[in-house]
Amino acid sequence: MQLLNSVPVYHCGHAIPVETFELMDDHAQTLSWSAIKFACPQCCREALATLELNPQVYVNLQQIRPGMAAFVIEVQDVASPLADILALSAYVRRAASSDELHPGGDVFDLSLAVWRKEYWFANETEPMHVVALLRHLKQEMRWLAAYLRGGEQQIHFADFAHPYAE
Ligand SMILES: [Zn+2]
Repeated sequence: MQLLNSVPVYHCGHAIPVETFELMDDHAQTLSWSAIKFACPQCCREALATLELNPQVYVNLQQIRPGMAAFVIEVQDVASPLADILALSAYVRRAASSDELHPGGDVFDLSLAVWRKEYWFANETEPMHVVALLRHLKQEMRWLAAYLRGGEQQIHFADFAHPYAE
C-alpha cells in the first residue's frame, strides 16, 4: 500500500474514492484494501475496454454436494488486471456452471474458463445466517461492480454464463 498525503492510492496513482469506501461494510473494505496493489477500478475498466472485453457476473445458489449448498459467483470474460484482483480475492478458474445442480468442474480450455468463488453453507443453516451471507455477497458485488464497464447491470442473479453463446 502506498500513502500519498495520507490518502490511500492504487498502484496507478488514483485514490480510493472516500465516499464509496464509506458506503462499504468491513468485507467490501477488505476487498478494496487488498486490491490497492493493482490499478484502480476506473483504470481496470479502461483496460478492459481496450481489450474489447465486457465481463459479466453470474450469482447463483447451487447444490454443491448432499447437504451442502453455496452462493456461487462466476465472472466471465476477464483479463488482467481484473483477473489478478479476482485471483487475490479467492476466485479460481473453473469451467462455467450449466445450472443450479451442475457446478462447472476443472477447466481444460482456459479461454472458456470463468473465475469462480463459492460461499458454502449446510442445508440446515439457520435462515438468519444465510441472509447474513447474502448481505456479504451483495457487498462483494457492490465492490466488483466498480470494475465492470456496465457496473451493476453486468451482474446477473439467478442466471448462468453461456460459454458457447454467439
Ligand atoms: Zn487508476
